[in-house]
Amino acid sequence: MALFPGRTVTVTLLSAMVLLLLTYNYITQNCRSHKQMKNELSHLESPDDLQYKQPSITNGRTDVVSLSPWLAPVVWEGTFEPLLLDSVFKLQNISMSATVFAVGKYTMFLKDFLETAEQHFFVGFSVHMYVFTDRPEDVPSVKMAPGRQLTVRAVPSSDRWQQISARRMEFIQTLVEEKLQEHDFIFCLDVDSKFHGRWGTESLGGLVAVLHPGYYRDDRSKFPYERRPESRAYIGPGEGDFYYCGGAFGGTLREVQRLAKTCRSNFEADAEEKVEAAWQEESHLNRYMWVNKPSKVLSPEYLWQDFKEKNPEIHIVRFSGVTKNYAAIRPNV
Ligand code: UDP
Ligand code: MN
Repeated sequence: MALFPGRTVTVTLLSAMVLLLLTYNYITQNCRSHKQMKNELSHLESPDDLQYKQPSITNGRTDVVSLSPWLAPVVWEGTFEPLLLDSVFKLQNISMSATVFAVGKYTMFLKDFLETAEQHFFVGFSVHMYVFTDRPEDVPSVKMAPGRQLTVRAVPSSDRWQQISARRMEFIQTLVEEKLQEHDFIFCLDVDSKFHGRWGTESLGGLVAVLHPGYYRDDRSKFPYERRPESRAYIGPGEGDFYYCGGAFGGTLREVQRLAKTCRSNFEADAEEKVEAAWQEESHLNRYMWVNKPSKVLSPEYLWQDFKEKNPEIHIVRFSGVTKNYAAIRPNV
């Protein structure tokens, strides 16, 4: 080494420079990924803002079942943390949509439905409401928050309510096929209802069904499923899980597309054989949910009925059907 001192110094210097360069690179790389991470998290409230009760693993609702036998959550007040869920879904920047049908005199329900949706349905999220009606001129103008919008789509009138209710699946199928890329989730809701409490991100899932308020305490032998084997909505004795509402269901657009397509084609195939299921599309929906199993089940808090006394397990009514005079509003009785 002593023979070539100049060369040794050069090699040492060069090595030091390479080492420095590598270290610098490592640091900047690391800083960049840290910055990126911070960027990704910037949608989250800062930890100081996101304060919520410590989740307990030993205490929770004991008066109701909050997990189905196929391990889908059953959503009740007290089983979820709204702030936490909202921050998770804000991060994903989700696009929500909802459909509501108002054919004939049912346009009278639109104002309350839309106004209360502004107060309770996915507040703070991007929501696109699709109103299907034969009377576009009767759709009230409701002030919507930024990021929320309403589109009116014309559908034909009908002189049979069964037909109106049944064709919903057809229009829903068409809509979701068109909007597959545009929205992440959709809920399909009855118009003769109002929101009274939060309906938000806790309700999101692949395929979502709502327990019918009229039957959730009953034995399944009492469920008004379609009981004639000649219908494609048939559910036999000893079969079925819960009785779900036709007035509210949802999920991802892909799942709702599958559901609407299946229910519609089964309904139409039945009709060709002059069979109409006991509760039209609600019967077909129940059959579909029995075969396919919803990945999330919403408690009857998500579709109560105004005329019903609240049961003790119902701590909050979020959405409820108004009491109506069928003879006065339906085209046929
Ligand atoms: N519907 C409508 N016009 C009618 C009958 C029904 O627009 O003449 C739509 C409306 O969205 C309604 C849904 O179909 O909420 C289901 O009908 P309805 O609410 O009368 O059934 P129920 O909830 O009483 O079983
Ligand atoms: Mn209804």
